[in-house]
Amino acid sequence: MKRVLVTGAGGFIGHHLVGYLVDKGYWVRGVDIKMPEYAESRAHEFELLDLRRWPNCLQATRGIDEVYGLAANMGGIGFIESNKAVIMHDSALINLHTLEAARLNGAQRYLFTSSACIYPGYKQQSPDVTPLREEDAYPADAEDGYGWEKLFMERQCRHYREDYGLETRIVRFHNIYGPLGTYDGGREKSPAAMCRKIALVEDGGEIEVWGDGEQTRSYCYIDDCVEGIYRLMRSDYHEPLNLGSDRMVSINELVDIVAAVAGKEVTRRHDLTKPQGVRGRNSDNTRLREVLDWEPDTTLEDGLRATYEWIMEQLVMTGRQPVQGVLSGR
Ligand code: NAD
Repeated sequence: MKRVLVTGAGGFIGHHLVGYLVDKGYWVRGVDIKMPEYAESRAHEFELLDLRRWPNCLQATRGIDEVYGLAANMGGIGFIESNKAVIMHDSALINLHTLEAARLNGAQRYLFTSSACIYPGYKQQSPDVTPLREEDAYPADAEDGYGWEKLFMERQCRHYREDYGLETRIVRFHNIYGPLGTYDGGREKSPAAMCRKIALVEDGGEIEVWGDGEQTRSYCYIDDCVEGIYRLMRSDYHEPLNLGSDRMVSINELVDIVAAVAGKEVTRRHDLTKPQGVRGRNSDNTRLREVLDWEPDTTLEDGLRATYEWIMEQLVMTGRQPVQGVLSGR
């Protein structure tokens, strides 16, 4: 039985990935500084370790064949725009130490989770942006803080493969969402934030939207994400690869889809003082299709329905009193 390590196993994607790998028959060790918040981990072993610390990285990677590196200090746009120093500090230490410890402990493969935030700002200045191809990363002008750490670690993975023969894989996620993702507290991303706001508002009520809502993104459902991660790890492709949907929507359209799922009419109040990130972003999936012979296929409507229902349940469980829609099933 192959032994794998998932770092960040207490987080959103890591938690789902642990279950996926257990179902595939792997022996899985999960590591994080916290336990998963919303459901128990299915990892065979779960260790609470701070991976900024070198001895903890040696401990985490002992006896491991393959590492899925998902631990990072991160959050939505509100968080990453106002915590640049701590994000770069923490995530650089986590990734440098975990990669080196994996090598010393004889791991054969290492998957690094990068992000669409490595793409240059100058390619994302318009809502009808051209989808981003992997080679668009350079000349570099990554998202300040968070994006630069990711780009730096992408290169370090390449150097580890070239200099030490460690088989590295690099995935660039584009806005992953779904049940069991952070939905409040300041680190949540736009799909979860919209689901929460719409769940809590009455039919005909008003919700706050950051920026003018014309900024565009693409969103990838969590089940597609874990499948893509696994396919990439099993492939022989070692260059960075996009993993996302190529259906681009504006934030205003995202709100409309969630409102339809909720069966509510909502009015948008745009707060132009709030951070909104790049103006437009979409994934070019040409290479993804070529390399993995596959691409994400969960519709945004289906994925948001599952996410909305889960957030409704969480709000009920935590006594927040969400409001049922009157037009459900439209
Ligand atoms: P998440 O915040 O839910 O999970 C990250 C986990 O890392 C958390 O559970 C956190 O506790 C853990 N962590 C933080 N500091 C740690 C430390 N010092 N030691 C050990 N664990 C620590 O985020 P996620 O959405 O699951 O993202 C997983 C990976 O994918 C991250 O590397 C992230 O940057 C990347 N990514 C995610 C998205 C997305 O849309 N969710 C997009 C691009 C890239």
